[in-house]
Amino acid sequence: MDGTPQTGIRYPWPEPPAPGETIEVAEGVLWMRLPLPMKLDHVNVYALDDGDGWTLVDTGFSSKKTRAIWQGLIDGPLAGKPVRRVLVTHHHPDHIGNAGWFQSEFGAELVTTRTSWLFARMLTLDVQEVWPEETLDFYRSAGMASEILETRMAQRPFNFADMVYPMPLGFTRIKQGSQIRIGGRDWEVHTGNGHAPEHATLWSKDGDLVLTGDQILSSISPNIGVYPTEPMADPLAEWLESCERLSGLAQPGHLALGGHKLPFTGLPFRMRQLVDNHHSALDRLKDHLDVPKPASDCFLPLFKRKIGEGEYGLALVEAVAHLNHLYHIGEVERDRRADGAWLYQCKG
Ligand SMILES: [Zn+2]
Repeated sequence: MDGTPQTGIRYPWPEPPAPGETIEVAEGVLWMRLPLPMKLDHVNVYALDDGDGWTLVDTGFSSKKTRAIWQGLIDGPLAGKPVRRVLVTHHHPDHIGNAGWFQSEFGAELVTTRTSWLFARMLTLDVQEVWPEETLDFYRSAGMASEILETRMAQRPFNFADMVYPMPLGFTRIKQGSQIRIGGRDWEVHTGNGHAPEHATLWSKDGDLVLTGDQILSSISPNIGVYPTEPMADPLAEWLESCERLSGLAQPGHLALGGHKLPFTGLPFRMRQLVDNHHSALDRLKDHLDVPKPASDCFLPLFKRKIGEGEYGLALVEAVAHLNHLYHIGEVERDRRADGAWLYQCKG
């Protein structure tokens, strides 16, 4: 067991803050929750006390409802002190959704990585009224069931602009190794990949706190997905590399403050567990690919449970991520089926 962390995971707060309320998880660090209209029904956000104002970490989906909750928090537990900065961990809509609102309505400074800003602004401006052919090709190549594809095509395409408030020009860049003072603490920025490119995590120099975003989560595995923007990507390799690198910083006593689920301690143990879970999933997937199969037929070995309609999209992009990884490391080969789906099979 050399080097294997022995300490398990602890949740200092078994219950999340009620809607519109806060929990002080460390001096000057407030934890709040915002609702999400999906199976994962919440996102965690944080407010760090800078004395004369607040720095918020992540912002929730853009909606009138979410902004009303924010306004209630600002008027209530945040005591009307100005929101001066918004730090966004990564470009996903549940994290960056209201950043533009804080910039344009409150004059807040947006602090994030360059890739997060470019991705979010590009996708927000790229409004699609009909499904792009590349997206449909991508779904077909993943073996999406035709009835699911037809149902999707009858609906408005997924658009960032529907969930992200317009983002004005301008942001402040953080990158790997950046030092930043927030909420009376000095933090070091370490970027990860795999869940989202150039995802920021912040490690307090006093050794107490880590703002992990969705790079590392407590009781669910961060979604690792391949998207039509980069169909041959290998985000799993990038995520595994990030885990190995960030593990070197993790201490059992760190309080990890993530984007979903509960804050926890036992970060080294959790990171090892997350990595091991993916390796086990890859092993099960290889056994499953004794005969050629499309990504859409790989849910059971990967997730060990039936996937419902509400999770189908995320499951599919995650299945492609695992298959792309096996393909890039030379463990599987693939052939096109007549309908365009890639069929993967283990070599030898
Ligand atoms: Zn995310």
